[in-house]
Amino acid sequence: MGNEPITFRIKTLTPLWTGGADGKMDRIHETGIIGSIRWWYEVIARGLGYYICDPISDNRCKLSGKEKDGEERISKLCPACYLFGTTGWKRMFNLPVTIDGKHTIKGNEPFSQATTNSINKSWLSKVFEKNRYDMNYFGSLELKVLPRCDRHQIVEQLKAVLSIMSNFGSLGAKPQFGYGLFKLADHTEETKESLRMINRFLKENCFIKRSDDKKGFSLKNYWKIETEVGKSLPPANLEYLGKKGKDVYIPMSFEVRYMLRKEYLEKCGSKKATAEIFGGTKGDKWASKVFVSSFYKEDQKNEKYKLRIWGFTARAVSEIVREAIERDYETNNDREIFSFDEMLSEVTQIDS
Ligand SMILES: [Zn+2]
Repeated sequence: MGNEPITFRIKTLTPLWTGGADGKMDRIHETGIIGSIRWWYEVIARGLGYYICDPISDNRCKLSGKEKDGEERISKLCPACYLFGTTGWKRMFNLPVTIDGKHTIKGNEPFSQATTNSINKSWLSKVFEKNRYDMNYFGSLELKVLPRCDRHQIVEQLKAVLSIMSNFGSLGAKPQFGYGLFKLADHTEETKESLRMINRFLKENCFIKRSDDKKGFSLKNYWKIETEVGKSLPPANLEYLGKKGKDVYIPMSFEVRYMLRKEYLEKCGSKKATAEIFGGTKGDKWASKVFVSSFYKEDQKNEKYKLRIWGFTARAVSEIVREAIERDYETNNDREIFSFDEMLSEVTQIDS
């Protein structure tokens, strides 16, 4: 590899939200994109058995500037802080975002959620109506990686984490509102190989191993249901959706999560346990442990929509989710619910 920066081309499947000043999005903000990549890198590293600090606690990694050498500096950093930066240590790369000229990225869809439920409608109109002229982006964009050093390693780590995010999660902020599903147009890596690339990097750099999953956001607890929706969509009365949006994606993640939350509460009977899994209703960024995409189309020519639901919980929760969406959205869920269990033990064994 030469010194040319590597560019990841991204095609959105649901609109991208990166936030901005006052929580309004005026353009694509790199910080929102990098924040989500870091979050996923943490999830993967925890899944592989490595220690990741809590970046908002007092115990987070930091450098004082008095460290003798590089070795001492690295010994004070967890892998996420090493790559993405912390107090006294710069991020290992820059990531300017450019918009692909061929597909105009539109900032013209309202920041909206659709619902068929009249109770939700008044709540949603209060929350979302005032943001109607906010922007989000749908289309193609490019992330250019400019590593500070260790070019090959940095590029490899980003390629691995982006490949995993495109198949199992989302990019940017507000995943709880269905934002950020995407496809990598090139430089994709197969999932097991991605895990191996990250595992090797963590091992070679002697990061600390510790299974400290208090928050539960680890690949060890990850599950995913991704399925075609049989029910005809969109339903007739989607009040908060511009005409254009309907053909491309349907922002109903709020509605689906509302239904799942209710279903879970009925099954388990505990409000506390339900809030732990589905989060508060305040819309805190990562409060929920279950994420629901907007209904999306892998290819715009497709008639049918798909839905991706993923979580970081006990397996029983995913079973309840599967039953509920099968009933309400006529999804075809014969396939097993995906988990990383087997792959994680394989990868950590091969490379140990
Ligand atoms: Zn750290």
